[in-house]
Formats: sequence, structure tokens, C-alpha cells
Amino acid sequence: MKALKLKTKLLYLLLLVGFGLVVIGLIGYINIQNIKRNMDTLYFGSLIPLNELNTITATYHNDLGSSVYRWSHQLLSDEQAATNILQGLDRINHLWTSYLSHDKHPEEMAYINYTEAQIRSIENYFMQVHSTVSDPSRSHPISLMTMDENIQSIQKTIAQLITYEYENAKYEHAMLLAQYENALMQLILFLGVILALVMGLAWVIFSRIEIQQQQLIASSETLKHLNLKLEQASYTDSLTSLFNRRYFNIVYDREFKRALRSNKPFVFMMLDIDFFKQYNDTYGHIQGDVALQTVAKILKSTLQRPGDYPFRLGGEEFGIILCDIDCKNAHIMGEKVRAAIDSLKIEHKGSKILPTLSVSIGGICITPTLDMSDDALIHAADTNLYAAKERGRNQVVFGNKL
Ligand code: GH3
Ligand code: MG
Ligand code: MG
Repeated sequence: MKALKLKTKLLYLLLLVGFGLVVIGLIGYINIQNIKRNMDTLYFGSLIPLNELNTITATYHNDLGSSVYRWSHQLLSDEQAATNILQGLDRINHLWTSYLSHDKHPEEMAYINYTEAQIRSIENYFMQVHSTVSDPSRSHPISLMTMDENIQSIQKTIAQLITYEYENAKYEHAMLLAQYENALMQLILFLGVILALVMGLAWVIFSRIEIQQQQLIASSETLKHLNLKLEQASYTDSLTSLFNRRYFNIVYDREFKRALRSNKPFVFMMLDIDFFKQYNDTYGHIQGDVALQTVAKILKSTLQRPGDYPFRLGGEEFGIILCDIDCKNAHIMGEKVRAAIDSLKIEHKGSKILPTLSVSIGGICITPTLDMSDDALIHAADTNLYAAKERGRNQVVFGNKL
């Protein structure tokens, strides 16, 4: 459930990043389009027209004025001058048409219309000049001064238009820069917002992951603890809390092999309560259980070293494994257990040897060899227990031979 929530949060994060990228891309695209449009306006709307207007101004002077001047000083033939005038006018018309074809602001139109009217008027004037130059009778003389005035007048008008176009270009340039800065700001701002959101969401996700990790660690600790308890329970006899038969099999096998490897004595004893059937018959089963628990307590309190293992093997039979001990001391330990139970003086009217509860112990102490079967030791201990019973009970029979 929590993992699902985390997945959803991660999905949100990815969606946010994806959304951010799309929006940034869109903003970038729109702004680049705007900047391109402004550059076009600057170039085709202002700079090229400026160039055309400058060329028109120069044409009035170089092609028209200069041709008429040179003609009047006989430096140019009639035909040549007439051709130059027509070519100049044609060139001006061509440039003017091109100039008009570019995008124009409505507020520009007043200047343009005025200039157009001037250009037409000067065109008429130069058509008259052309007639005079082409007419060999020279019915109308040409005043160079009038021509200069006319040229200056149209150049002044065009200069005004150039100033206007130039101002326009400056304005377009400023607009372009503003547009660029605006786009940059928008991108930075949006990137900042997306970055903050992503960081916030990532922080939420990572703190959630950390909490879940801690919860997971806690659960695994609990699980470990429960497993340990379960393992202990599976190795423990519920009535006496001693190790059970199951665990006996494991320890017996392990310690027998260890003793074999290290060439050390291995001790196994079997303990059986004397006349326990009669005890149950006399004091009842529940009291019998209490007696079993008392014997278990004695085993626990007497056998406390790390290599000492007391077990309840079943019924009123107990087993003892002792490691790292010599045979003499092992025998003494067996005797100690027997004496401890004897000294409790638990009433046992049904016993045929004593008025109190007693146990018999059969033990074996041997350094294992490879040819020795582990069952042989159990069998030897059992035989010694039988011997203890036979010899009158309440005693330890200990051997060190199979
Ligand atoms: P011996 O001196 O030869 O050992 O005689 P015994 O009566 O002790 O031997 P036997 O094996 O005939 O009797 C064992 C009795 O132990 C029989 C059974 O009632 C009793 N017993 C076995 N398990 C339990 C138990 O868990 N609780 C109780 N109260 N009694 C048990
Ligand atoms: Mg028995
Ligand atoms: Mg018995």
C-alpha cells in the first residue's frame, strides 16, 4: 500500500519534470518565433528600406543631376543625356516600388504618401528636362539652379523619411532586445519554479522512503526476534523448559563430531526417576509434573557451564551431555545431580527403596574414534542406567568403555 503511494509520488515527480520540460520548450519556441519576427521586421522593415532610400537619393544626384550638368557643359551628347535621364527615373521608380513592398506601419503612410507625391512631381520635372534635351530646337531652356533646387528638395523629403525609418529601426532593435530579455527572464523564472517543485517533491519522497526503511528495519528486527523465539520454542520442552529431544539430536551429533575432531572425551548420561509410575499413582499426574519440573530445576542449576546440556528426552527420562570435561569430573557431576535430588527429600511413599524421591543415572565417558557409532554411546548409557536400577536405584553407574 505504502509502496504504491511512493510509486504514485514518483509518477507525479516524473510528470512534473515532463510538464516542466514541455512548458519550457513551448516558452522557448514562442519566444524564438517572436525574436525571429522582430529580426525580420528590423531587417526587411527598416534596414533594407533605409538602403533603398539612400540609393534613391544618390540616384537623383549621380544619374539625373550629374547627367544634366555634364550635358549642359557639352560633356555628354543629347542622346546619352536623354537615355541617362530615363534610366535614372526608371531606377528610382524601381527602387521606390521595392521600398513600398515592405511592411509599413500605418503612421508611416503620411510620410510615404507625401514623399510619393514629391517623387512624381520631380519625375514630371525631369520628363520635361528629357523633352528639352531630346528636342534639338531647345524651345525650353534648362536652369541648372532650378534643377538643383528640385533635387535638394526631394533629397530633403527623402532624408526625413530616412530619419523616420532610422528611428523605426532603433525602436525595433530595442524591442528585439527587450523581447530577448523577457524570454530569458521567463525561462529562468519557470525553471526556478519547476526546480523548487521537483526538489520539494523529491524531499517528500525521500523522507517517506527513509521512514519506510526505518519501519522495514523495525519489522525485520521484530521478525528476527520472533524467529529466535520460535526457534527456541522448537528446541524447548514446554513442561520443564529444558532442551527437548529434537534439540538433543542436534547437539548430540554436533558435540560427538567435535569431540572426535578434537580428540577429547565425550560424556553422555541418562537419568530416570525411580518408581515414578508409583509416584503418579500416589500423588496424581499433576503432582508428577511438578516433580518433573523440580528434577529439571536441579539439572539446570547443577549444570551451568557453557559445555553442559541437560535435556528432557521424554516421559520421566532426562539426558545430559557434557563437553570439555574429563571422565572423573563427569562422574562427580552425575553424582552431584543425584545427591541434589536426593537431598530435596520429596516425599515418595510409593518408592520401594526410600521414603523420598530418587533418581538413577547411567553414564558413559569416552573419547570417540572413527570406527565408533554414535548410537553405541546411547546404548552404553542405557545399559549403565539399567545396571543402576538393577543394583538398587538412587545411584550413578558410570563407565568409560563401550
Ligand atoms: P523405574 O524405577 O524402573 O524407572 O520405574 P518407573 O515407574 O519410573 O518406570 P516406568 O517406565 O514403568 O514408569 C514411567 C512413568 O512415568 C509412567 C508414566 O505415568 C510417567 N510419566 C511419563 N511421562 C510423564 C509426564 O509427562 N508427566 C507425569 N506426571 N508422568 C509421566
Ligand atoms: Mg522410565
Ligand atoms: Mg523411572
